[in-house]
Amino acid sequence: MQSEISKLILLYIPTSICNNRCEYCFINHTDSWNEEKEKFKYSVDQMLLSLTRERLSGTCLINLTAKGETLLYKDLIPLVEGLLKEGHYVEIITNGSVKKVIDKFLAFPVSYQERLFFKISYHYKEMLGKKKEEDFWENVKRIKESSCSFSLELMPYDSLNECVDNIINQCIKHVGALCHATVGRDDGNKQKTLLTNLSRKDYEKIWGKLDSPMFKLKMDLFGVKRKEFCYAGKWSIIIDLASGKAGQCYGRPFSQNVFEDPSKPIQFFPVGYTCLQPFCFNGHSHVALGMLPDVNAPTYAQIRNRKCNDGSEFLKPKCKDFFSQKIYNNNKQYTSMEKIFITCITPFYLLKTLFFDVKDNKRKLVKYIKIVTKGFIK
Ligand code: SF4
Repeated sequence: MQSEISKLILLYIPTSICNNRCEYCFINHTDSWNEEKEKFKYSVDQMLLSLTRERLSGTCLINLTAKGETLLYKDLIPLVEGLLKEGHYVEIITNGSVKKVIDKFLAFPVSYQERLFFKISYHYKEMLGKKKEEDFWENVKRIKESSCSFSLELMPYDSLNECVDNIINQCIKHVGALCHATVGRDDGNKQKTLLTNLSRKDYEKIWGKLDSPMFKLKMDLFGVKRKEFCYAGKWSIIIDLASGKAGQCYGRPFSQNVFEDPSKPIQFFPVGYTCLQPFCFNGHSHVALGMLPDVNAPTYAQIRNRKCNDGSEFLKPKCKDFFSQKIYNNNKQYTSMEKIFITCITPFYLLKTLFFDVKDNKRKLVKYIKIVTKGFIK
């Protein structure tokens, strides 16, 4: 029987330790490699108790992303194992180069592997060199041959402009399909412009060669301020794994601690019409999974999958079915009146966040003022 996707849960692991040093990575700009300042306040058992299907009202897609390399987070294996045992689907963002951790996942029972998805970043330049390249493709091949699903994704940036044909050849040679492409943004810039010196047209011309639906969706969303009602916060939540603090979406203030008392219900409150971001930069998952029902977008399966020339696919049947759903089909949507009501009570919800974690109040007050002033004036 197919599981219904109920929510998207983003678990952010604030550790910057990484075995790569990609030139475009934002950690490079802050020189915070191997920074292990974050103390994990809660045990894995407590995290798992906090993330039961009962508490989250159903089966969720749980995304694990570290600031550095996710596979180097020390408690990753028991955490993922516990989430799969609970019945969730798990997505791990990785550079695909930590063999000993991948091996442990590939030793999981098939029923767990079927719900495990690796988003493998193909760091083309960092993988150059015989040994690194061989090891990387060997890891991808072993994941491909397992019951786990995966997607191969490249970050386009200007130093790679001349390498597109070789990237295509490598992908065809090793997996029998092209990688997808994401879209880089300049985080140092408030408007989060494209991370390239090329014109948008030239950038699209070069990276369009990968014929990636993921790239196309990201380009369609890039720079477009969302004005539709957004259910992030209601059908998705972002949790800092070290502290248990949670917020509605990226850039929103933390409003609760979801690990402190697993017997307490989690508050799911939508962003609605008050998104402050210049565009939905995580839209490849939020929009594709259906957080904005009024935006017509391909499914998450369509932007992650590829058919390989041996007949196999990046997504195995269970993940493909799960990723083919839209969260808005499995949850109740608000009426127009309810949306107006949510908009009216949003300032009160946000005001409440000021009383949560008072240490962080200065930053939150600034955010509060921005949302209440700008967010409501379209
Ligand atoms: S529109 Fe995108 S960035 Fe804004 S709140 Fe919704 S999901 Fe988050």
